[in-house]
Amino acid sequence: MSTVTLKNLSKRYEDADSVALQDLNIAVRDGEFLVLVGPSGCGKSTALKMIGGLESITGGEVLIGERVINDFASRDRDIAMVFQSYALYPHMSVYDNIAFPLQIAKVGRAEIETRVKDVAKILQLDPYLHRRPGNLPGGQRQRVAMGRAIIRRPSVFLMDEPLSNLDAKLRVKMRSEVAQIQRQLKVTTIYVTHDQVEAMTMGDRVALMRDGVLQQIDTPHTIYHEPRNTFVASFIGSPAMNLFRASLARQDGELLVRLGDQQLPITRLTRQRYPGIEQHKEGDVIVGIRPEDLEDATLVPEHPLDQQLQAPVILLESLGSDQMAHVQLDADSVTDTDDEDDTESLMNSTTAAGICICRFGAQSPVTAGVNVSIAVACDRLHFFDATTGRALREDT
Ligand code: ADP
Ligand code: MG
Repeated sequence: MSTVTLKNLSKRYEDADSVALQDLNIAVRDGEFLVLVGPSGCGKSTALKMIGGLESITGGEVLIGERVINDFASRDRDIAMVFQSYALYPHMSVYDNIAFPLQIAKVGRAEIETRVKDVAKILQLDPYLHRRPGNLPGGQRQRVAMGRAIIRRPSVFLMDEPLSNLDAKLRVKMRSEVAQIQRQLKVTTIYVTHDQVEAMTMGDRVALMRDGVLQQIDTPHTIYHEPRNTFVASFIGSPAMNLFRASLARQDGELLVRLGDQQLPITRLTRQRYPGIEQHKEGDVIVGIRPEDLEDATLVPEHPLDQQLQAPVILLESLGSDQMAHVQLDADSVTDTDDEDDTESLMNSTTAAGICICRFGAQSPVTAGVNVSIAVACDRLHFFDATTGRALREDT
């Protein structure tokens, strides 16, 4: 049994005026690959270091299995860690680097040799065992660091941005390798990254944090399709979900959302997905539309006419497989990311820009400067409270 349970885990660094981590509650399942993701400074490394015993716990508990390990020394936690910096011993061979934890533990020579060979096979490091790490490309060095963690057969892996030093192409390759190796070994893993694509592609579940507070923990599919608030909605997905100030209106028993001088129906499916809409008073609301839910209407001729928007195309970016059309809507954009200074209050983060990014098919003939009819997948609209940014999910 190697579940990892965080109960109200909190951290206040001495002489810091704000908490780095506040009441983090996560139950990592046995064998699960859990990704902690969020912008820089949100407390990911702090959480990981507390689990690993490299940073003191100022509130709450960490359990491995049934045992509270708050007071265990790092080496007694049966945890192996892999960091962004490989911290390999440059003067030692790859073999000795991998064998090191076992040598320290005074494991017998023959046993060490068998285990190094096993690990080298898993990581495809066989040809490099007698080289020095300095002579290896970055991807191989990171594998050696993984090897040193794997060989201990720990009950938990902790990884903090282990792929950040690699170039983009290698990162993509290593991403799937690390995920495959974890699935092969079935060791409970907590993996930290600021990269939402890494989080979405690698994790069984994704825990998204902001300013030391957990925002949502769910499968990649759920966190993408059912974001709890505007922060989650805009952090997960690229290009980000378009968010606009809009207003709810009732007309002849139908629900509508008004975006500037245009309107869209709120379909039965969307009302089921966001039951909070029913109780919501008419007026201010935030509507979210993912770029892929907006298509050039000429490519979907059967699309209902009342589920369209008209807008001028400001900019067109061709990606080959599809095209990103930036169109101008007569509505206020809402940004809820940490790119700007302090966006504690959604009210401060409304910009008048009104730019909406649409992912059009490659066949779309639109060009910058023309007006375009946009087919909106109204069954997939998202709705958030205009003040709190919370999804209108619960019927409250
Ligand atoms: P992340 O890994 O998500 O980028 P960290 O866990 O490193 O974030 O940091 C969370 C917060 O705690 C940040 O505001 C950071 O400045 C602060 N912090 C991290 N380490 C220390 C430290 N040793 N002393 C004081 N503050 C720290
Ligand atoms: Mg960090």
